[in-house]
Amino acid sequence: MNNFSQTDIFTTALGLAEPWRVTNVEMLPSEKNPNTMEVHITVDFIEGSKFPCPQCGELSSIYDSKEKVWRHLNFFQYRCYIHAKVPRVECDNHKVKLVDVPWATQGSGFTLLMEAVLLTMLQQMPVSQVAKQVGEHDTKLWRLIKRYVEHALLLQDFSNVEAIGVDEYSHKGHHYITVFLAHPEKNRSKARVLFTTEGKDKATVAKFLEEFQAKRGKPDKVSDITCDMCHGYRNAMAEAFPKATTTVDKFHVVKTINDTVDLIRRRENRSKDKKKINALDKTRYLWLKNRDNLTGEQIEQLDLLLDTEYLDTVIAYNFKLKLQGIYEHCIDYNTAVEAFESLCLEMSNSRIKEMQKVGKSLTRNAVEILNYFDSRKTNALLEGFNSVIGLIKRRARGFKNMDNFMAMIYFVCGDLQLPKATIM
Ligand SMILES: [Zn+2]
Repeated sequence: MNNFSQTDIFTTALGLAEPWRVTNVEMLPSEKNPNTMEVHITVDFIEGSKFPCPQCGELSSIYDSKEKVWRHLNFFQYRCYIHAKVPRVECDNHKVKLVDVPWATQGSGFTLLMEAVLLTMLQQMPVSQVAKQVGEHDTKLWRLIKRYVEHALLLQDFSNVEAIGVDEYSHKGHHYITVFLAHPEKNRSKARVLFTTEGKDKATVAKFLEEFQAKRGKPDKVSDITCDMCHGYRNAMAEAFPKATTTVDKFHVVKTINDTVDLIRRRENRSKDKKKINALDKTRYLWLKNRDNLTGEQIEQLDLLLDTEYLDTVIAYNFKLKLQGIYEHCIDYNTAVEAFESLCLEMSNSRIKEMQKVGKSLTRNAVEILNYFDSRKTNALLEGFNSVIGLIKRRARGFKNMDNFMAMIYFVCGDLQLPKATIM
């Protein structure tokens, strides 16, 4: 095979069209690691060609050119790089500009196809793992994610959003971000993250509303809001979406009481009472998991503990069961109201301080909690998102900042479209 036809084949294989063509293909030892070989493809344009100005499209003459290199998909086990002198044109209106090449976006060190493959990998695997596998520094991959997310967010359309869920997540303890999500919309089977920003107060909602309207969302069309018991943004949400019914999410209500059971267990486990300490040793998950998810041995242990009378944890646990029972068995609003009110009263009158507090909080939120039995709106999706975001956080031990955290939330949960790379 002579050299001419070989470069010709690569020109075709890479989908290049005039004036671009492959002029050279070489196997060279890697600079970093001379024992491995790499494929280096040189692309050039036909002399005398004119190129459109990237800003206005006006065909313009070449002013000079810049040497660039992009990483492309491997050929077999060999890393592959594309080299080209990219012309700068002198446009009458925009002065000297670097032209767009068909195989990469400006500023990226990867070809479009390489980016598409990386993005697909990054949606499934931790950044650090992808970085290791493809032998790139993770900051380069983070830059890719952020650039892609930024671009994809411009294309968001909220015109079909009718039900919104709000939740907040802490990052490194004190920093909060609020996440606004849409329940599944018309033509969309999955819930998605619409917007995320730092903070968890009125100003946060104002920012969301602005974004919502800018992206063709119609506040009057929103009929349901699901959220947690935190009052910080609830009133602001009700103002922003005046036609919406607010439901405190079932998941959050159960979580609140679950957290309290755990709090009480820890308090008793730290007490000076040897009997309590022994009884509660290594029992954390007995109280937190659903009975169905315990082993036979664990169930036996739990039942023995439930027969005792000296543990606040047992009383708290029984409250939790009652609350779960209301969600499971109350078939209509009225039955639920009755059962819920009596539970709140019982909690408020209990001898356990932590439970009194929960009782008060449930009472304060009663209307919104009970709306669930009318609308049956729940963020089943929130539960899912919680585990996804937990996963993102764990993956993100390497997160250097909140921006990365938020970019990753959009990236994984935003239901954004991956770019379609048609060239190369
Ligand atoms: Zn121009």
